Amino acid sequence: MTEKFFELDHVTHVYQSSDGEGHEALHGVTLSIGTGEFVAVLGANGSGKSTLARHLNALLLPTEGRCLVRGWDTKDETRRWDIRQEVSMVFQNPDNQLIAAVVADDVAFGPENLGIPPAEIRRRVKDALALVGMEHYAQAAPHFLSGGQKQRIAIAGAIAMQTHALVLDEPTAMLDPRGRVEVLHAVEKLHEEQRMTIVYITHFMEEAIAADRIVLMDVGQIVMDATPHEIFSQPERVRALRLDVPLAADLAARLRCGGMDLPQDIVTDEELLHCLSR
Ligand code: ADP
Ligand code: MG
Repeated sequence: MTEKFFELDHVTHVYQSSDGEGHEALHGVTLSIGTGEFVAVLGANGSGKSTLARHLNALLLPTEGRCLVRGWDTKDETRRWDIRQEVSMVFQNPDNQLIAAVVADDVAFGPENLGIPPAEIRRRVKDALALVGMEHYAQAAPHFLSGGQKQRIAIAGAIAMQTHALVLDEPTAMLDPRGRVEVLHAVEKLHEEQRMTIVYITHFMEEAIAADRIVLMDVGQIVMDATPHEIFSQPERVRALRLDVPLAADLAARLRCGGMDLPQDIVTDEELLHCLSR
């Protein structure tokens, strides 16, 4: 049994507006994510993905139910600092996340606030930049970087904090295809080499395939929770939730409909090519 990193037990979240009206954004969400797992979260706009993400480092607290991070209850104020040391967040807009005038200072910002000695900070900054493939940009001005590079710097900042989990809320939504690939590769590397626990919210199906597991949300609830192959072998269900299906899975389903004998679980281009070339 892997240790549980995140554990949500019937979490409901109600946003309270100033006129006293409540809006329920999460409804009875129960979810367990193991240490070292890479989980993608998919769902249409407004399905509650960001609200869920913000529960994972106690930016939001459950209205009902319980959210545990490494066994600590997010409602326990004495543990809030510990939780923030364990879970970093990366958001959608690369321009809102970098604050310093020089890349290295930006990555050093978090550890500096923790009072870590300068030599140790320099080492961490160097290692973190190398991990995201940005070691040659330590002295660059973030202003001149591409969106994909900026997001990788934001990720390096999280690595330098030595948190064990990274929650990314649509980190590639504002990037071009090349930037998207760069960010996804950096995340995969953290997962594989550092065994970081990853929660990756995206609306790009091709990115979700990289995860061990996909959690699919609809109107504040989890409606599917399975491997990418299990999810995308049911294209009708995925489409009914107003989501796309990866191109290869879609094409395979059409070819099967047309009478071709193809396996159910084709998801990636490589798998489809392999089957077709037989
Ligand atoms: P997603 O990230 O999947 O698009 P969100 O978690 O942002 O979904 O939003 C879920 C629901 O909660 C939506 O209906 C949204 O309008 C609502 N919502 C989000 N933030 C707030 C807020 N601060 N106040 C009130 N309602 C909100
Ligand atoms: Mg969102």
